[in-house]
Amino acid sequence: MNTRSRPGTDLVEPMLPVPYRVAERTVETHDSVTLRLDPLGRTLSRARPGQFMMLYARGVGEVAISLSGISDGSLGHTVRAVGAVSRALHDSPRGTVLGVRGPFGTGWEAGAAAGHDLVIVAGGVGLAPLRPVVLAALADRTDYRRVIVVAGARTPDEFLFRAELDSWTAREDMETTLTIDRRAPGWSGPVGFVTEPLSRLKLDPPRTKAFLCGPEPMMRFCAEVLAGKGIAPASIRVSLERNMKCGAGLCGHCQLGPLLLCRDGPVVDYAVAGPLLRVWEL
Ligand SMILES: Cc1cc2nc3c(=O)[nH]c(=O)nc-3n(C[C@H](O)[C@H](O)[C@H](O)COP(=O)(O)OP(=O)(O)OC[C@H]3O[C@@H](n4cnc5c(N)ncnc54)[C@H](O)[C@@H]3O)c2cc1C
Repeated sequence: MNTRSRPGTDLVEPMLPVPYRVAERTVETHDSVTLRLDPLGRTLSRARPGQFMMLYARGVGEVAISLSGISDGSLGHTVRAVGAVSRALHDSPRGTVLGVRGPFGTGWEAGAAAGHDLVIVAGGVGLAPLRPVVLAALADRTDYRRVIVVAGARTPDEFLFRAELDSWTAREDMETTLTIDRRAPGWSGPVGFVTEPLSRLKLDPPRTKAFLCGPEPMMRFCAEVLAGKGIAPASIRVSLERNMKCGAGLCGHCQLGPLLLCRDGPVVDYAVAGPLLRVWEL
């Protein structure tokens, strides 16, 4: 495979982890943290929003984690502890050295949404890979028409980037809706799945681009809501996650139909993803 033709893929050695040190560790929720990683030597090439890195916790293993923060030197990763490797990453104190490979995969390509209304729908930790898109849209706010964020979490305590979300909610140049799955003490906002506020939005279909990230059923239902409003599947992008091993399109671990998601995804147009997600157990 020719990795040289893929923008954003590290050209030196895609299978060789390079050392990065945990420079900052911010607790987001009871099971999620955001790590800022600084290079110890070589700096990997700058990722695009939506791409991911393979993070290696010494002696435990390596997993795919998206970029939740992108800058020229440091990497921002928000990790939810669900199993051995993600737990080891989550528990890494400042100073821990991790191995990092990447960046890998496709991005949201938010530039193509310039001049459009941008609809961003996130469930749970799905907000992490979408955060850089929102930040980029706010940095170039006049490039976009409406910027709409609908984020869902199980409980109020499970929203990532809570202070940032509150600052987005307070802005008049964007529309942010936070919703939780079930009623909770002290919560006066909407209750229900993200599909509910999404279905109430009045949208201008030819001028709308939508980016969705969260559990697969959530993305499927949201995409159907948007399609029902007349938004073309090619204007809806989703981030698909499968267990990934090599990250570089070599091992076939993450195959979904004709796609190798580490290379052809994780971000895919719903025109492509929709028919695949409708195939039972693919
Ligand atoms: C492209 C990509 C980007 C990702 N970005 C992030 C991110 O930004 N933050 C984050 O916290 N996680 C992210 N993940 C998910 C992360 O890779 C998995 O949580 C991790 O691989 C689990 O490994 P483990 O050894 O900790 O747990 P395991 O012991 O392997 O699994 C524990 C549990 O997690 C489930 N699981 C395993 N892998 C995945 C997966 N890929 N997706 C969903 N559930 C899984 C298993 O079914 C099991 O229930 C991403 C995955 C992909 C493919």
